[in-house]
Amino acid sequence: MSWKHSLWRAVAAAVGADARPGLRILGYHCVGTDIPGDPYGLCVRPGAFARQLEAIASGRFGTPVCLGGAKLDGSAELCVTFDDGYQDALTTAAPLLAEKNIPFTVCVTPGLLDSGRPHLAWDELRELAKVPGAEIGAHGLTHARLDALGGSALARELEGSRRRLEDALGRAVTVMSWPHGAATRRTAAAAKAAGFARAGCSLYGVNGPGRDPLLLKRTEITGFDDDRDFAGKAAGRWDWFARRQGDPQAR
Ligand SMILES: [Zn+2]
Repeated sequence: MSWKHSLWRAVAAAVGADARPGLRILGYHCVGTDIPGDPYGLCVRPGAFARQLEAIASGRFGTPVCLGGAKLDGSAELCVTFDDGYQDALTTAAPLLAEKNIPFTVCVTPGLLDSGRPHLAWDELRELAKVPGAEIGAHGLTHARLDALGGSALARELEGSRRRLEDALGRAVTVMSWPHGAATRRTAAAAKAAGFARAGCSLYGVNGPGRDPLLLKRTEITGFDDDRDFAGKAAGRWDWFARRQGDPQAR
């Protein structure tokens, strides 16, 4: 575990939870895949993930929903999301989620799927989409930082990701997450124009009715989190972290 995580944990213990209700979105990457070194804690161990799902299934953090299914009306809801499209979303995470009847959203990058392991193959993505409660979203076409792109390149990334996924799955794809969390009001408007209704960024916090649905806050869950960190994050005790990040809705 990094010294930074220890520091942040101490701050989370010192500040109170933000008790406002709303949609809390948890952001995961992979569950069980061995990432060499894993400096960002992208991989959550399956045992820890299973315990997190127990806590989510209890309903104490809100009603579990997928991103497209959230009411976003200020009621307490909790959404489990995954970015990038690691293969273990199908082999490890999905069976655990389905067993607990927890809906979930996997935001995948077609360019990463084309690159092979440790990402899903296209036929595996189709299999994942059939798991009860699974929703597939986009995560850019090539995983580029979308806030750095001009109008036509940005539209290509957004529309291209949606089209490739819709062609592969034969169903509408209307949710996404921002690669690298890189979003602004300009990219949000472009995503809306490209046919997306909801998108998650990397800003910690809970989403009330006033939040731009294309710049939804998400709280990242990492492999550094113990059970107490997880419960604290799900309850809003780590929302102070947003002050370090800056809100894309203000950019
Ligand atoms: Zn990503």
